[in-house]
This record gives sequence, C-alpha cells and structure tokens, in this order.
Amino acid sequence: MKKFTSRVNIRYGYYPFVTSLIFFALLVVSRRLLTIRYARRRFSLVKRYNTRNFFFKFFYELKVLHLSIYLLIPLVISFVVYPVNVPLRKIPGKIYYKRLGRLSYVLASLNLLITLRSNILLKVSKFNYTDMIPLHKWLSRFIFITMFVHSLVYMVVWHIDDIVVKKMFKNKYNLVGFIIFVIFCVLFPLSIRFLRRKYYKLFYMMHHLTLIAFIFLTPYHARPSVLVPYFYFDIAILAIIVIQKLFYSRVKTIIKKVDIPGSNLKLIKLPKFTIFGLNNTNFAPASHLRISPYHILNPLFWMLPTHPFSIASLPGDDTIDLIVKENSNGKIPMMKSLKLKENKRFTITKHFESAVPVSCLNNCENLLIIVGGSGIGYGLPIYRYFQDQNMKMENGDGNRKIKNIRLYWVISNHNDLKVLKYVESLKDYEAEIKRDFHIYITRESPKQVIEYRDSAEVIELEEIHVTGKSDSSVDDCKHEVLEDCKHEVLEDCKNEVLEDCKNEVLEDQVSVENDGLFDISNDTFASVNYNRRPNWNSDFKYLDEFDEFDDVEQIRDNTWILGCGPNGLIKDIKLLANRKNVNYSIESFEF
Ligand SMILES: Cc1cc2nc3c(=O)[nH]c(=O)nc-3n(C[C@H](O)[C@H](O)[C@H](O)COP(=O)(O)OP(=O)(O)OC[C@H]3O[C@@H](n4cnc5c(N)ncnc54)[C@H](O)[C@@H]3O)c2cc1C
Repeated sequence: MKKFTSRVNIRYGYYPFVTSLIFFALLVVSRRLLTIRYARRRFSLVKRYNTRNFFFKFFYELKVLHLSIYLLIPLVISFVVYPVNVPLRKIPGKIYYKRLGRLSYVLASLNLLITLRSNILLKVSKFNYTDMIPLHKWLSRFIFITMFVHSLVYMVVWHIDDIVVKKMFKNKYNLVGFIIFVIFCVLFPLSIRFLRRKYYKLFYMMHHLTLIAFIFLTPYHARPSVLVPYFYFDIAILAIIVIQKLFYSRVKTIIKKVDIPGSNLKLIKLPKFTIFGLNNTNFAPASHLRISPYHILNPLFWMLPTHPFSIASLPGDDTIDLIVKENSNGKIPMMKSLKLKENKRFTITKHFESAVPVSCLNNCENLLIIVGGSGIGYGLPIYRYFQDQNMKMENGDGNRKIKNIRLYWVISNHNDLKVLKYVESLKDYEAEIKRDFHIYITRESPKQVIEYRDSAEVIELEEIHVTGKSDSSVDDCKHEVLEDCKHEVLEDCKNEVLEDCKNEVLEDQVSVENDGLFDISNDTFASVNYNRRPNWNSDFKYLDEFDEFDDVEQIRDNTWILGCGPNGLIKDIKLLANRKNVNYSIESFEF
C-alpha cells in the first residue's frame, strides 16, 4: 500500500507542476498578445472588453479572484481524480492528505516564478513585478492552507492512534516536517495586513526564513522525494534572484538631501550610474529603484527589505531624484525606519520598470494624475513626460499631442508644497503648472496656514539649541524626548536624549538656507484648495463633456487616470474611473 501511495503521488505531482507552467505561460502570452493587438488598434483593454476576450481579460488584468478560480479548477480536478484507473472507494484516504503536502511544495515553484523581480518573461509580457504581488499573496495563502491541512490531518490521525510522540518527534523526517509547520504558523499571523504593515521588517524576515526552510527542508522531510524536478527548479529560480540582485546593485553616495521644514518629505539626489558599462539611465517615467542601508556582503541586505522609491526625475535630468516621506518609528536598530543621509553610502538596486501601462504611455490623449503625499514622486515624472511630448510637438520634432494633462496633488500639510521648490526641472514647466497643476491641502484652512507660518519659529523645548536644524528635525527630537521620557525619570533622561538628538540633527544638517530654485506661491498653481479633498463629482465634471462627442468611446479609451497614494485615495480614484468609464492604473506604496 505504501508503495502504491508513493507511486501514485509521484505521478500526481506532475499535474499541478505542468498546470502551473501553463498558467504562467497564459499570463505572459495573453498580456503580450492583447497589448500588441490593442495598441495597434489604439485601444486599451484595461476597462473595456467583449465576450470574446472575456477569458483573457482576467489574465491581462491579473484579476486575482478569477485567476485563482482558473488555477484552482485544474488543481482540484487532478487532486481528486488521479489515479483515474482505480475506483474512488478503493483509494486510501492517506493518498489525499499526503498529496496535500506535495501540492503545497509544487505550487511554491509557481509562487517563486511570479515573484521574480526582473525577468525576461515579465519584460516580454509587459508585466511589472508589482502587478504580481496580489496573486503572490493569494497563492501563498493557498500554499499555507494545503500545508496546514496536510500537517493537521497527520497529527489528528496519529493522535487517534496514540502514536504522536513516536511518529512526530522520534521520526527525524517527520520532526523536520513539524518544524516547517511551526515556522509557517508563526508567519501566518504576521502576514495579516495590519500586522504586516505595522511590523513590515519582521514580517519580511520571517517570510524569507519560511521560504528558505520550506524550500530546503522539505526535500529532507518529503517521502517520496521532491528533489526532481521541483527542488532543482526552485534552486534555479533562487539562484537567478540572487544573481540579479548582485548584478543590479551598486553602492552609491547620496549627493544631496533636502530637508523640508515642517514636512516629513525629503528630496534625495543620487548620482546616475551605469552597470558594467551598460547605460542604466534610460527608464520609463515612474520607474522605481530600491535602497538598502546595508552592503551586499552584509546578511541583513538579504534578510531585510530593500526600500522601493519612485524616481521623481526623468532620464534626461542630471541626477536621480527621489521624494521620500521619512517615517519615524522603531527603536530596535534593525527595525528602525530607513533614514537616508547626505554623503552617506547606500546600496542602490537599479530601476524597476514603471507600472504605468504601455498602452497609456503610447496612446493616452487625456490624462489625470491624482496623487497623495509622497506619491508626487510617482506623479511628477509622468506629468513631465507627457508635457514634454506636447512641447516636442510644438517645436516640430514630435507627432503626439496630449489634449489634456492634469495633475492633482493631495497633501495634509502646506509645508509639503515646499519640496517642489527644490525640483530644479520644474522651472521649465511654469506655464503648464499654472494651467493644470491642482493642489488640495486637506487639513488646513488659509487662516490656519498663516497662523502656522507665524508660529513656526517658536520652539517649545528651549533646551534644544542646535544650529542649522530644521523644524522637522526639532519636531522629531521633541517627539523622541517626550516618548523616551515617558518611561524614565524626566530630568536624567531629558539631558541624555537631548544630547543624542543634537548629534543626530547635526549629522542630518542640510542646507535649507537658500530659498529653493523654483518659486512657489498660490499663484504658481492652477488652484490651491484648502481644507478639503477633491470633490469627486464637481472637480471632475469636465470628463462628462466627452459624451457630447461622436467618438465618445474612442475618447474614453484614450483617457487615463493614474493614481498613487494612501488606500482611501486609491479607492476613490478607482470609483471615479469606473463612474466616468475611463481607464485607470494605480501604484500602491504599501504591500
Ligand atoms: C513601487 C513603490 C514605490 C514607492 N515609492 C515611494 C516614494 O517615491 N516615496 C516614498 O516616500 N515612499 C515610496 N514607497 C514606499 C516606501 O518604499 C516605504 O514607505 C519605505 O520603504 C518605508 O521604509 P521605512 O523604513 O520607513 O518602513 P517602516 O517604518 O518599517 O514601515 C512604514 C510603512 O512602510 C511599509 N514598508 C516598509 N518597507 C517596505 C518595503 N520594502 N516595501 C513596501 N512597503 C514597505 C510598511 O508596510 C509600513 O506600512 C514606495 C513603495 C513602493 C512599493
């Protein structure tokens, strides 16, 4: 019986494996075929579809729910019916719960494949690796469930037979299986959205530990063997991931960090760099790169997340600019939020392709960019890219006119606006900004802004006398002093923390003396709206005017809303696009 179970399950394993490969191929082919076809016809498929391409649409759009069903159907069928030539009642139940373990390991290969950050298949298919993350999450959950049920049923059966100790702890192969089970069980709660976002670094470490344990320990635990082809396949993908990371990462010094008083946005300037002589400076607008404070030889570079940041500049600019929102949480050194510092060296992993669909870059005629907070780092290069197309057209060396380009930036604090002062390239777009760049300051009325400005110089904690400090550094320090002193005797603690604080601020010193390179005031923009978010009805009413044209369908097909920001804003943007029946593409800064 044991031999029969093993033989049948070895053969069974090939079904989910082949299903996975076909599924991946379908993802690639459908996106590629549809992109070519629809780009040629100047249609984008992201919103509209007909029954003929209904099936492919879900592959194209990566609709997770539908894709999961497509994947699940062949998986469930092969799981239940194989072996086909034995009557169902004669198949021992053990085959199935043993098989669940194999299924989870086989699916890990697909899971690794879809998370490859930069691979030829993604390039060919015009997918971005961030597109795959929702699918990766659902597949991981499915793998967890199959592994969990596999382990649980074994434990229950052993418990009923009263052989738990003998089978689980005295059998070294099963003990390894139990260890994998425990590691997975620790990861599971950490992967729930709330905890994942709160303790992202911890989650990420645990995620990698689980991955390594699962891939490397399962071949020892599993009987029959899972070495061929699954383990070798996974090793090949892991090797590609490591080689790519090594190949594309360089240690670079931050040229400049501009601290914006009263705001937690910072402008970061990095040098452009080449990789093995290859020009690495030609990238689509809103591509991103990744930064790590650790050197590639440091194990933490591999175990902790690298930080993705949108490139706020364009390839033609002198530097690579980032607009970064600095967080201030974490006391444990490894878990602290990333702090980028001027003249300090960081490991930069080259740009990753933009998530803006190619059909938008090629065919868009009406564009709305709606971004919140640090999402401006995503919005600015897109805005400039399309404005440049129009400028080229006006100068006679382009053939593309984008009729409408509007940028909406939602911020909670007027000081965030000041970051634009330091984006030198904006000087070339003054007329355009005045025409179609709209600002929403959600939490301040004009009166509050004036009051704030008048009181901005008042520093409540008089002990802090640090030359060259900025308002936000002082705020950070004040916050830290108060937080730390909650738990200790106030006076002792205060001096100590203030000393640390002084050093930190001195280290962080940046030149905010000059008044920036691009002058801003209320008149700079098309509109500055205080104390409110965009009004999704009245502010975008002009989109309804499309209905008056004969070719309304075509206009809608070439109208795009690109959005980036907090979840609430993203939700509203999707609703707006659906209501107005136009295309949209969203970049989320949180996984
Ligand atoms: C494609 C992309 C582009 C981005 N571009 C920008 C940008 O231009 N400007 C900007 O300010 N921010 C951007 N972000 C977000 C930025 O990467 C995170 O805010 C940053 O990594 C947080 O680092 P931290 O040490 O402060 O994190 P923590 O203080 O540990 O966590 C703060 C929050 O950031 C999230 N986070 C932490 N690390 C990562 C990570 N490696 N990947 C994704 N989320 C993470 C956590 O879920 C948490 O909610 C982008 C994110 C993505 C995915």
